[in-house]
Amino acid sequence: MLEALKQDLAKAIECLKQENIRLLGKGSMTLFDRSNNLILTEPATSDSNCDADSILITDTNGSIVEGTGNLIPSLPAHLELYRSFSTIGAIVHSHGLYTTAWAQSGRDIPVYGTNHLEFFKEAIPCTHAVTLENAEESYGSAAGRCMVEIFQKKALNPESVPAVLLFQHGAYVWGHNVDEAIHHAVALEKIAHLAFLTEKINADITDRAGNITPRY
Ligand SMILES: [Zn+2]
Repeated sequence: MLEALKQDLAKAIECLKQENIRLLGKGSMTLFDRSNNLILTEPATSDSNCDADSILITDTNGSIVEGTGNLIPSLPAHLELYRSFSTIGAIVHSHGLYTTAWAQSGRDIPVYGTNHLEFFKEAIPCTHAVTLENAEESYGSAAGRCMVEIFQKKALNPESVPAVLLFQHGAYVWGHNVDEAIHHAVALEKIAHLAFLTEKINADITDRAGNITPRY
């Protein structure tokens, strides 16, 4: 079932490995076939080798429809983003070095230049700490809820800002399809690096809104 999409996802995952943004834990990638209401996901153990045959298909509740293997623990977060952001079709969960450094710092990535604006129209938001609402809630579900909440709180459009930092963890980045999601994930890592260097070179830099770099 959905063989062409499985090939697309497997190729995309291979591409992610080459971009080296799966550092410090491999992260995850999924694709949402909205016409069939089915999610394609890599299995939990695909880091060394992920071919099209190992891709799992689930329904929108995360129950396996086709394939064998363990589901990635971050799948509930992916599902929450697909439910809340109705136009996105693929998600990369990345642990890129600079992306994760910003996420660990608990800071939004400010808009320091035009390179940022080519991909993200506003600062990349960072969530608050992930806390479980009750004993049944998984970290993945809670993370998904936190990411959607920050977009609601800041009235952000997921089309204009296709990424969010998950405090103390990494990032979720999306697009209409796998190519766009990878493009944005690679851009996020480069922009996170650029923003870090910008603050190193000029500690008094202000972002486009005139905010002064916070001191810690
Ligand atoms: Zn992760």
